[in-house]
Amino acid sequence: MELMELIEEFFSPSSLSQVMEGYEAREGQRVMAREVARVMEEGGVSLVEGGTGVGKTLAYLVPSALFALEGDARVVISTSTKSLQDQVVNKDLPLVQRLLGEGGRHFLAAALKGRNNYLCLHRLKAAVERGKVDRDVVEWAHKTVHGDLETAPKVGLSHLLGSRWEYCLGKSCGYRELCFYQRAWKRAEEAHLVVVNHHLLLSHLVAEKKGLPFFERLIVDEAHRLERTALEVLGESCVISWLLRQVQGLTGLGLALGMGTDFLQDLEDLKGRLSRSLTFLKGLLPQGRVAVWEMEALEEVEEEISNLSLAIEEVALRGEGWLRRQGEEAPLHREVALGVGELLAGARVLEKWAQGPREMVRWAETRRGEVPWISFHLVPLEVSSILGEGLFTMVDGVVLTSATLSVAGSMAHIREALGVPFHAREVFLPSEFDYEEQVRLVVVRSVPPPLSPAYQERLLEVLSSILRERGGGALLLFTAYRVMEGAVEVLRGEFPHLNFYVQGEEGRDALVRTFREDPWGVLVGVESFWEGIDLPGECLKTLVLVKLPFKSPQDPLVAARSRWYQEQGKDPFTDYLLPEAVLVFRQGFGRLIRTKEDRGVVYLLDSRVLDKGYGRVFLSSLPPGVKMDVVE
Ligand code: SF4
Repeated sequence: MELMELIEEFFSPSSLSQVMEGYEAREGQRVMAREVARVMEEGGVSLVEGGTGVGKTLAYLVPSALFALEGDARVVISTSTKSLQDQVVNKDLPLVQRLLGEGGRHFLAAALKGRNNYLCLHRLKAAVERGKVDRDVVEWAHKTVHGDLETAPKVGLSHLLGSRWEYCLGKSCGYRELCFYQRAWKRAEEAHLVVVNHHLLLSHLVAEKKGLPFFERLIVDEAHRLERTALEVLGESCVISWLLRQVQGLTGLGLALGMGTDFLQDLEDLKGRLSRSLTFLKGLLPQGRVAVWEMEALEEVEEEISNLSLAIEEVALRGEGWLRRQGEEAPLHREVALGVGELLAGARVLEKWAQGPREMVRWAETRRGEVPWISFHLVPLEVSSILGEGLFTMVDGVVLTSATLSVAGSMAHIREALGVPFHAREVFLPSEFDYEEQVRLVVVRSVPPPLSPAYQERLLEVLSSILRERGGGALLLFTAYRVMEGAVEVLRGEFPHLNFYVQGEEGRDALVRTFREDPWGVLVGVESFWEGIDLPGECLKTLVLVKLPFKSPQDPLVAARSRWYQEQGKDPFTDYLLPEAVLVFRQGFGRLIRTKEDRGVVYLLDSRVLDKGYGRVFLSSLPPGVKMDVVE
């Protein structure tokens, strides 16, 4: 049977409802599955916007699996985060494997994460010998099936125990047969479907295509996040206090290995040099993020970090020379190689920063603390050319999908941001939900503009009155930490019977898990809380969007990109800031209604949506049918 016929049969209302309890046929899902099947068979690029409730995951997994199975090919599915990756692997894939397996079609699927997410047993042994690992971690290491450090009893272990190519002994490693990363790679090589995250996909793209096994087709889910991840992957940064930590670590290793007094003295001198630099730079740089064009002492900063880079490189190269002379493969020597590698990488970022490449945005960030925290960052101005040349030529067929690809019905912005080829098809699949029935949008007019002196006071009055009327089961989405923290402090005092789960006080997944079970819960966040949070059912009935989510024009990257848009003859507001804000707004709005049973109210505390001309772009990007009330 042809792939398209198989898809028609699989998604026919009668066949799925027989094997999936409670399944309701969805036209959007069938259309999407057909489109994915078409890309699988014919190649090309397709942008598929599927509103909430369409059932996108099933719609791309089934045709991908059938195509890979029939053609003995491999399809890579990329999701935006590791937790979404886990969700596809642990929830959606087993279902598809069961459904297709019942028809005698058994396919292999695997998850692959970045290398340093996996426990390296060789490093573990060395760390245990040095007394660097607690017992609970060792116990976990004995039990873990996949060695995914995210499941370890402690966070932040990848630096100490993660698999790294610079460290890996390869074929001469005594643990090779058991190696978690090697096994994950092998599973991926044997699989028809490989589920990855955007970070790994983009690292594969820039690292000469060595991060993933060969594949024939690509599905990018949550494609609206691809550009942001590309900016992270292609950007570079160096934290001075991190380099200091590396030097301290190398000193400990040097003493254990008897590296010789000369090298130990070099490290001691470098430690002093880094500390002096920190103090000197602290005097030159203001608190927070500061772009190069705002730095009064830019020349001095550049000179200082260029000299610092040379000093670091000199010591690191001496360390490399020592390692070469030893010719040893012992674990401690490998750790020295890692530390030296980190120093060299840091030195190169600092030198690049000091050189100031034209195509990159540069800024520094300073934070208060016992040891001053100063970092230097470089991020490319745009990634569309790299993505356009790399991503869409990597394989013959690519599907980009998300619930939010368009702005006021147009995909022009995402096309340009990702360098999508001209011939790519566009498919719009509306949500299956009845928004007219399920949700009400209330715009509160009386909150003044954020820069007004009365803003904070009126904002708090409105938030209090919403919580008084609606109680728990609320999600408050802010756009600035400072405003969020100020509001939470007051609201906690005013509503002692409500439990506030606030971003930054615990990990996002843990906060969401607890909030879900608490009818008196109020979940509060900025930025990442506007998307990727799935709260179906009774636990969420009130959503408050405190402000339209425009990026801060003071942010160095935003300011530089705005200038870049201007230089290209475009309007930075209309072509960049507005569409980006609309996409985030649509994501935020989408948190409330996740199933056909969900009901609730969205409060928008920003009257610009009514008063400004651009407000209609936000409103016309909402799902059709949403009823709006305006209150004071
Ligand atoms: S093969 Fe490499 S990554 Fe795997 S355990 Fe050995 S050293 Fe670690």
